[in-house]
Amino acid sequence: MSKLLRNFKIQLPQNQKKLVQFLKKFDTQYVKGLQNIIAVLETETWNEVDCLECANCCKVMTPTFTNEDIKRISSYVNMNENEFTDKWLKVEKESKDVVNKIQPCQFLNLETNKCTIYEVRPADCREFPHFKRKPFGDYNHVHEQNIEYCPATFKLIAKLKKRIEKDYEW
Ligand code: SF4
Ligand code: SF4
Repeated sequence: MSKLLRNFKIQLPQNQKKLVQFLKKFDTQYVKGLQNIIAVLETETWNEVDCLECANCCKVMTPTFTNEDIKRISSYVNMNENEFTDKWLKVEKESKDVVNKIQPCQFLNLETNKCTIYEVRPADCREFPHFKRKPFGDYNHVHEQNIEYCPATFKLIAKLKKRIEKDYEW
């Protein structure tokens, strides 16, 4: 296991609850210039996190596949859409989302942590961990869940908490 993931797994139990509580409270606050603050913290976070030392999202989570994703990826791997769907995907009972049947993702190279369909990967994978979504605060519920799996989200929210608690009456 990489140092990044090892540290993440050590720090998570001590901090997860505090970070989730922060996000819940943050949901009710207005912070001026939030997008600029996020942009700075995001750069800091990616300077500290290399996804190729992690790939945890590809190992323990699943993307949601749109019809466009299925069309594009099945053609890339030389399968027809039905074959592709039958082989790799299922529909989740409650949400009706189309997701992977297995984890880790069938397209992850477990030796290199690289995605073997990177150029055509699902939109959901391209956007993960959703730091670019605007306004950032509308996605607190998503970040709350991702703190548990994604070291980058964990770091970004910890930095945000520190910054907000220092600069604002909290
Ligand atoms: S498609 Fe690629 S980026 Fe998306 S979960 Fe699978 S391996 Fe990861
Ligand atoms: S997005 Fe998060 S979970 Fe996925 S590889 Fe990067 S740090 Fe790890």
